Amino acid sequence: MDVKLPNFDAKSKKTATKLPKPNKRPSKKQMREAVKTLIAYAGDDPTREGVIDSPKRVATAYSELFAGYEQGPKQILSKTFQDISDYNDIVLLRDIAFYSHCEHHLVPFFGKVHIAYLPKEGIVGLSKLARLVEIYARRLQTQENLTAQIIEALNTYLEPRGAAIMVEAEHMCMSMRGVRAPGATTLTQKFTGIFAEEKSERERFFALVNGAR
Ligand SMILES: [Zn+2]
Repeated sequence: MDVKLPNFDAKSKKTATKLPKPNKRPSKKQMREAVKTLIAYAGDDPTREGVIDSPKRVATAYSELFAGYEQGPKQILSKTFQDISDYNDIVLLRDIAFYSHCEHHLVPFFGKVHIAYLPKEGIVGLSKLARLVEIYARRLQTQENLTAQIIEALNTYLEPRGAAIMVEAEHMCMSMRGVRAPGATTLTQKFTGIFAEEKSERERFFALVNGAR
């Protein structure tokens, strides 16, 4: 089977913000063949009754699990509300659940994202922040890039005075295989604007994230 894949620049250093845009995908038939190969490679019989329809199911699941490639942040963040009266303090959305796939092992990592920003000229609907997380989570990812991409998009389209993000996740590639450290949590964070400049603002962010639920 010879599948021609888009030619990504593997040497690109700007992986955090520059996303590969697949334009030419293998056909559904090629996808199903690939899953059959994986089943056989695992040691099972791809024609066995229990798994014979799995290639079809996996193809359908992929459309959902990797739906992030079909969307960009622009549509989601372009509508802001300018009428924010005199509210100019932190807007924080915490405990946004996400499910992603580690790009190194193609197994899930999942957890929570906490996002905060200090509005300048506008605010976005809170559900938009959750959708922003979805866009980047539903791709092949590293937690580091996921963290950077979300805050980058927020800064680009909302231009807040500052933004803060913390991601906590469990990686199945560490829990199920390799070092086998189930329950271990990986934390990543990034701060821009006032949050990067002022220690007291970062402390306020941590206090709110860790505060009583
Ligand atoms: Zn991994």
